[in-house]
Amino acid sequence: MSATPTASHQCECPECAGSVNFARAPLNGEVVRCGDCGVELEVTNTAPITVTLAPEVEEDWGE
Ligand SMILES: [Zn+2]
Repeated sequence: MSATPTASHQCECPECAGSVNFARAPLNGEVVRCGDCGVELEVTNTAPITVTLAPEVEEDWGE
């Protein structure tokens, strides 16, 4: 039997509650896209993996 510790990199999408899978351990601040609803999520913590809805970046609003 394979005893390889398969690190499962996944978390729950805060938008649709679907599972978001990462091919590798995500980095803090990384932006990923939910495969279910397509929303962009920003990784705010890596252990455990926590994501929040990424702010919508459209045009540069200027200040
Ligand atoms: Zn989603």
